[in-house]
Amino acid sequence: MLILSSPSGAGKTTIARRLLAEDSEIRPSVSVTTRAPRPGEVEGKDYYFVSRDTFDRMAEDNAFYEWATVFGNSYGTPKAQIREGLKEGRDFLFDIDWQGTQQLSQKAGTDVVRIFVLPPSIQELHRRLSGRGTDSAEVIADRMARAQAEITHWDSYDYVVVNDDIDACFAQVREILAAERMKRTRQTGLIPFVRELLKPQG
Ligand code: 5GP
Repeated sequence: MLILSSPSGAGKTTIARRLLAEDSEIRPSVSVTTRAPRPGEVEGKDYYFVSRDTFDRMAEDNAFYEWATVFGNSYGTPKAQIREGLKEGRDFLFDIDWQGTQQLSQKAGTDVVRIFVLPPSIQELHRRLSGRGTDSAEVIADRMARAQAEITHWDSYDYVVVNDDIDACFAQVREILAAERMKRTRQTGLIPFVRELLKPQG
């Protein structure tokens, strides 16, 4: 389970999209949310958009690995779509907040790698959150406060990357993923090969 978290405006979505496009071994975990779709968002690809009632029922039925309320809307990771894949040893990418990250990390038997993406500077974060210049100072100040609240949780992640150059940042995320895949404990498929190498000769 590769978890990418960041405040909005740090470039996480771009990195996630590129990773999914360029690495055929990793699949997205598509979350369920009560928030309304934004223009361009696709049902089943960006999120599963559900009513509050449906969400609450799923939570009661224990259908989520984790769920959290983020700024008034609820978001959850449905178990159904990833359970089989995880059993088969597949990699999944999670775009979830710090609360979901904590819940997944605490679940017995979950194998998580947590990456936090930071913006290059406070000025650049402000610029990215200012939108097209049509939002009021109050709306922008609110977005900044939310972003800073998310950043306070950076210390519960395994890796931190600073997104001052999207290509460099993406390359770092790929390096992290490559190294994590090479960890001995994740290479159980090599056991027969190593046994073969250890067979007495002569
Ligand atoms: P947005 O509404 O901008 O798509 O997402 C708002 C926040 O919710 C982001 O920080 C995103 O990472 C987080 N989020 C999206 N899906 C989930 C989920 O399934 N669980 C949790 N805990 N957070 C999520």
